[in-house]
Amino acid sequence: MESLKKTTSLIHHPYRAPVEFEAPQVATHKASTVFFPSVKAMTSRDWKDKSGYTYGLHGTPTTFTLEERLCAIEGGLHCMLVPSGLAAIALVNLALLGSGDEVLLPDNVYGPSKSLAQAELQHWGISHRFYNPMDVNDLALKISSSTRLVWLEAPGSITMEFPDLLAQVQLCRDKGVCCALDNTWGAGLAFNAFDLSPQHGPHSLGVDISVHALTKYPSGGGDVLMGSVMTRDSDLATRLKLSHMRLGLMVGANDAESVLRSLPSMAVRYRAQDLCARHLAQWCQSQKQVVQVLHPALPNSPGHAHWLRVCTPQAHGHLNPLVQSVPPEDGWAAALFSIVLDPRFTVDQVNHFCESLNLFRLGYSWAGPISLVVPYQLNALRSNWPDLVIRGHVVRFSIGLESEIDLQHDLQQAFNLCL
Ligand SMILES: *Cc1c(COP(=O)(O)O)cnc(C)c1O
Repeated sequence: MESLKKTTSLIHHPYRAPVEFEAPQVATHKASTVFFPSVKAMTSRDWKDKSGYTYGLHGTPTTFTLEERLCAIEGGLHCMLVPSGLAAIALVNLALLGSGDEVLLPDNVYGPSKSLAQAELQHWGISHRFYNPMDVNDLALKISSSTRLVWLEAPGSITMEFPDLLAQVQLCRDKGVCCALDNTWGAGLAFNAFDLSPQHGPHSLGVDISVHALTKYPSGGGDVLMGSVMTRDSDLATRLKLSHMRLGLMVGANDAESVLRSLPSMAVRYRAQDLCARHLAQWCQSQKQVVQVLHPALPNSPGHAHWLRVCTPQAHGHLNPLVQSVPPEDGWAAALFSIVLDPRFTVDQVNHFCESLNLFRLGYSWAGPISLVVPYQLNALRSNWPDLVIRGHVVRFSIGLESEIDLQHDLQQAFNLCL
């Protein structure tokens, strides 16, 4: 190599760092190109086989490690990373649906998932219908011979109704329809999506696919966008992986590293934020301006009994064996709740209330360190006002990692000032 010019020897340098290196954090392997030792190795590599590498798009040690750790949380067997939670939803739709097929979505589905169905899927000849997430009979009636996929969400977005997940999954299984759960709220901690039934074992009842916005708790910083698609079924995994590859969906190594760095603290953050959110939700219940608080762990919130059934140990006798040997007695819930403000207030008053908060910032997403607030015009988002929600102005809070008393004082001063 002595005869090489400086510019070349900078690139083709003979030094190789010793291979044995261990440290707490997984290395960030940045690669589009991956080298092969021979043409045979190059041509015989199958990108579906995770025992080797082909191209950055199909995985690096960093992304494979993140996928495996995510599987460990949720008990999945196959995981794919995608650039956002919404991309995870899109991948499932694209992989499993074709022209003439129908997909069913809950009325309270994550908003952009609704737009995806109404615009993109519709455009490709894939129809959709919405079902009442709080009425299993309605779902049963809407499953037709062209239904190929049912989306589940527990609880639903903004209005936080917790559905009878077990009955929904059982129904999909009885009808032979694939069901996919947007499990961002549960984060793999609140309940076992792949094993919902009290009896574990080969006949356990679980969803076919679980998707996450890793953007939320797994990242935890409000600074990374990422999603995952997970399944236990190898045939489904192959279909999903083929689409994943053909669509060219992959994530950057630095982002994967950020999530790997945040994962060890996820259960601790989830629990701490949960407790703070529940206290604040209870406190909001006692405020005269508030006509309803929507948080599945509160006894009069829609679907509370269903939440008790899958997210707490007492009703279920069901521990999450993968994450926690002793789940908290009071169960798990994400740090997210909505309040319904008295309809006598004006939209301007409600907006002013949101803007008058100092610690809560106006912003989308949740599960980060900073508490967030968003006012929603529910009339514009839903075709019907949800049955179990009192009419009024809906404001959603995401609770961060600030001190509970500071957040309560912030809410109090904004109530006093504006409502
Ligand atoms: C945030 C969110 C998503 C989308 O995640 P992005 O990474 O922001 O695309 C999907 N589903 C639910 C329930 C979410 O809260």
